[in-house]
Amino acid sequence: MSRLPSLLVTGTDTGVGKTVATALLIMACRNREVAAAPFKPVAAGAKRRRGRETWADVSFLAAAAGVPEEDISLYRLKKPLSPHLAAAADGTRINIKAIARKFNSLKKKYGAVLVEGAGGIMAPISARKTFLDLATELDLPVLVVTTPRLGTLNHTLLTVSACRKRGLQVAGLIINHCPAKPAAAEKSNLAELERLTKIPVIGLIPEISVSVEKLEFGGLAAQAGHLDLSRLQVKRRGSVRALAADRRHVWHPFSAMLEYQSEKPHPLMIVSGKGSYLKDSEGRRYLDGTASLWVNVHGHRRPELDRAVRAQLGRVAHSTLLGLGNEPAALLAAQLAELAPPGLERVFFSDNGSTAVEVALKVAFQYWRQSGQPQKKEFVSFVGAYHGDTIGAVSVGGHDLYHATFKPLLFKAHLAPAAYCYRCPAGLSFPGCKLACLDGVANLLARRSGRVAAVIVEPRVQGAAGILVQPPGYLERIARLCRRHGALLVADEVATGFGRTGTMFACQQEGVRPDIMALAKGVTGGYLPLAATLFKEEIYAAFLGRYEELKTFFHGHTYTGNPLAAAAALANIALVKKPGFLPGINRRSARLAALLKPLEHLPHVGDVRQLGLMAGIELVQDRDSRTPFPARQRVARRVILKARERGVIIRPLDDTVALMPPLPISYGELKRLAGAAAWAIREVTERGNG
Ligand code: PLP
Repeated sequence: MSRLPSLLVTGTDTGVGKTVATALLIMACRNREVAAAPFKPVAAGAKRRRGRETWADVSFLAAAAGVPEEDISLYRLKKPLSPHLAAAADGTRINIKAIARKFNSLKKKYGAVLVEGAGGIMAPISARKTFLDLATELDLPVLVVTTPRLGTLNHTLLTVSACRKRGLQVAGLIINHCPAKPAAAEKSNLAELERLTKIPVIGLIPEISVSVEKLEFGGLAAQAGHLDLSRLQVKRRGSVRALAADRRHVWHPFSAMLEYQSEKPHPLMIVSGKGSYLKDSEGRRYLDGTASLWVNVHGHRRPELDRAVRAQLGRVAHSTLLGLGNEPAALLAAQLAELAPPGLERVFFSDNGSTAVEVALKVAFQYWRQSGQPQKKEFVSFVGAYHGDTIGAVSVGGHDLYHATFKPLLFKAHLAPAAYCYRCPAGLSFPGCKLACLDGVANLLARRSGRVAAVIVEPRVQGAAGILVQPPGYLERIARLCRRHGALLVADEVATGFGRTGTMFACQQEGVRPDIMALAKGVTGGYLPLAATLFKEEIYAAFLGRYEELKTFFHGHTYTGNPLAAAAALANIALVKKPGFLPGINRRSARLAALLKPLEHLPHVGDVRQLGLMAGIELVQDRDSRTPFPARQRVARRVILKARERGVIIRPLDDTVALMPPLPISYGELKRLAGAAAWAIREVTERGNG
């Protein structure tokens, strides 16, 4: 074994010998030339020795590992009490985040870190957190130190069960204080521990003369050889089998599969996430610079969302909305109506952005038929638009690469010119242009007046087109044009909803109240697939009638209004309603803008566009003429693969590098994101690396 995973070493009780076991583990590692160091984040109970305060466990571990005492411990507390009480007595507070920071720096310095708890796994580390929370925060498997004495089966099983309930792996047991001649109970306990827990015993430590207090190692070193580290049961998260199965069986969306399969050393396999980070099967952490495809609102594994889903799992995972209600979906509909721009009172649930759009289009079409204006059946959308991949959504799409193939299958929609200021077809610039790009849609609506059912728009920013930010006033003018020509306005807030652009919904930046609004992505905080299409009540009213009048909207999906997803969405809304949510996003957006400023001067960056925490960096071969790179060079794709070398996951949109982090991203993480993007762009476009 050349590598050891970092572990949390806990005991079934105080005094089972965690410190001795940790020291022994370190010695065993040293014998096998495995890099490892101990870390006892909280040491309580100081003794005075030669006029100064000492902590016996800390000194013992430092001596065993040959590591300075400052690296062994973070909180050294005077009283021999439970950590939270000892901390209070010293007038301090234990901060798990600070422990995590120290842990990460020790990992960098020493390799594997064996984190020794205090007391057992449920011992409080602060007023509300226990060592279980610490293991969860640090994402550590647990090693349990126990003894063969009477009562051990109960204590060990309770410890293991608490860990498992929390989703933590228990990697092994060490049984300490094993007598040379065990009594009958001890003998049977030794045999039963492994059978009952199904966890490997990696070593039996006999009663040997060791004194932590007196720094006496006695016969400890001789025992190190008896610890069998290879028995540690830490599942390699990204098993080879999963990678092989991915290669053999998964057809990835929007992916040129030959290219994907040849990613080196192999495509990433994500196994876990926390906050702004994802971890892959090799244990590498990546900053999630795409918010897992623009969905993540509160970071990964946000406790409030985790709890909401778990609580709902304890009730029911799914029940249909066809002819039945369910509590989370009903409450969610009310919450969405309250949060949305005024007038959008009626909610139709589906599963994703495309279906939310599909519902919007079908309802708009049927609405006019049932309102005495069946001639209104045409749709208007914008060049570059992306509204999803179902046939209706593709029909109103305006991105040739994604949509042209399917033309023979689509209904005809009118594509109006979009706002793409960097490549303004009229060669104008804002505000002098007076929004001349809207003349196209204005003329179109005038020509087709009375026949257009709806205009569908991505408010304030066309996302998939390359983060094309619309100039101020653009959306409001479209809303006015719709009113003038009697067309419904559909706001596709699938990408922009839930704070992404700095307001709850992008429409609100221009006081626009759409007739229909499509939501998906962030609605569940990025946890589960659920979408909602919101309608004005008068649209809904046109569908009210007896069955034989055939006014019913005959549409719905199996998982419509799924209770688990709705529970996640309710927890998401509770968080987005907090007063600090939007101001926080706006502060971070300003920070991102400052960090992206220097990129504007890079020789192959043509344009940097940003709204809220959505940013796009358009790469060009020649800045002066704004000439794009030849498409076959796949420049943005090469950049995003390069950025992975700096631990950052981002995605390309044609030749634009899109940055779309989880909304609570910290300033430090923003710096890392912008820094990695800049570095990767320079490596690929200036140095030809990658
Ligand atoms: N609408 C917009 C504006 C989008 O950006 C997207 C996806 O990126 C969709 C609709 C489609 O959503 P989904 O991928 O969930 O079907």
